[in-house]
Amino acid sequence: MSTKGPDSASSVGLVPYEDTLRRLREAFRAGRTRSAEFRAAQLRGLGRFLQDHKQQLQEALAQDLNKSAFQSDISELIQCQNEVDLALKNLRAWMKDEYVATNLLTKLSSAFIRKEPFGLVLIIAPWNYPVNLTLMPLVGALAAGNCVVLKPSEMSKCTEKVLCELLPQYLDQSCFAVVLGGPQETSQLLEHQFDYIFFTGSPRVGRIVMAAAAKHLTPITLELGGKNPCYVDDDCDPQTVANRVAWFRYFNSGQTCVAPDYVLCSPETRERLLPALQSAITRFYGDDPKSSPNLGRIINQKHFLRLQGLLRCGRVAIGGQSDESDRYIAPTVLVDVQETEPVMQEEIFGPILPLVTVRSLDEAIDFINQREKPLALFAFSNSSQVVNEVMERTSSGSFGGNEGFIYLTLPSLPLGGVGNSGMGRYHGKFSFDTFSHQRACLLRSPGLEKVNDIRYPPYSPWNQQLITWALGSQSCTLL
Ligand code: NAD
Repeated sequence: MSTKGPDSASSVGLVPYEDTLRRLREAFRAGRTRSAEFRAAQLRGLGRFLQDHKQQLQEALAQDLNKSAFQSDISELIQCQNEVDLALKNLRAWMKDEYVATNLLTKLSSAFIRKEPFGLVLIIAPWNYPVNLTLMPLVGALAAGNCVVLKPSEMSKCTEKVLCELLPQYLDQSCFAVVLGGPQETSQLLEHQFDYIFFTGSPRVGRIVMAAAAKHLTPITLELGGKNPCYVDDDCDPQTVANRVAWFRYFNSGQTCVAPDYVLCSPETRERLLPALQSAITRFYGDDPKSSPNLGRIINQKHFLRLQGLLRCGRVAIGGQSDESDRYIAPTVLVDVQETEPVMQEEIFGPILPLVTVRSLDEAIDFINQREKPLALFAFSNSSQVVNEVMERTSSGSFGGNEGFIYLTLPSLPLGGVGNSGMGRYHGKFSFDTFSHQRACLLRSPGLEKVNDIRYPPYSPWNQQLITWALGSQSCTLL
């Protein structure tokens, strides 16, 4: 079922989305999504959707963000397909009750954690990887047995259209709905009570979502953004660093939440990095990056104008060209930026890389720690001691040593922020756990009442001592 707006959601038209949400809640309460078979069928449906409509999705991503088919494949479609396959392969193992140790007081009981679906889940997605960031959480929500309302971004319009018109045909529509719209529709949705909200987007809207969730005490995951520092040590090979930093910074035209936002390095390393970055940019995108099929475009005019404004900060050392008619911003490197300038105050989210100079590793670490905890942090050095020191003396959602965000391809690592960059995590089994309530269960036989005598009053020094001892003793896991 896809819902174009709040009016069409409600046949009586009184409370927007009421009818849609009631239908999904009823399906959940009837237990429709609980069985492993049902969950697997939904996951297989999602997998078929990805295969059957690969071309439409690639075309939509090309129209929204000028993504090449290769970029769409590696950063969106293959990732989603792998996530579906992994969930299908492990579904029954993930769903299994997890038996835990008992103490002597509960020795005759079985104690376990049951992974229960929360119920009705709302997933709100951004536009920069509009397939990946909409469907990866969906895999976890479906695998965990929830009913789902999916709210793709209204800014990646062509992808939103494919998701809204085609995806529902592959999923059970009594348990799943796509809702379209922007801030207004999302605000109306958020007035309703959900059992879990999974939000990916900016820290500003994250606060709005958290405030709405607080009204119903709804648990949430917030996958947010921010400024990701990238420390480059003097002891490095500048060309290797430049290749890696440039690839991760300019991929998807810099519109990546985990891209390096700015480089911290000494003035000497800056001078070695500049020609190396120029050479990497020319190697990747040619002498005229505008005609390169491998460079994306800015999502819309509003973001284009914002980025054009940032080009006026500091001094352009590389690139700096822009074309509004094509929403094109050249891969750019800025130097001599002031901390007070907008480019160092807001998340850049575009193909612009400021090089900020520091005098030492300590100064770089202080610079990082004086700011909000980032989603990602990178350190480049030939010295593993330097990389380890940056890792140990800072905090961030994720960390890349001599590497960019390639770790996103590993479902064995969680994606999530800390502090201002978010809360919660997902990917692979982390997604299943995120969308599952971990219910503590203890089952005991109704008989053998005699052994309980020690816990009932009146208490004597003897049974108090016995209980204290029994509470402290861990016994075997299975009883
Ligand atoms: P956004 O916060 O503007 O929008 C995200 C979603 O929220 C969209 O679906 C939008 O319709 C909705 N929304 C927007 N304003 C709203 C409001 N006032 N009330 C209710 N809902 C509202 O983010 P964006 O511009 O789509 O994405 C860019 C941001 O997302 C960046 O900060 C980026 O770092 C972050 N991001 C984070 C991750 C991650 O995994 N942590 C991934 C991608 C993007």
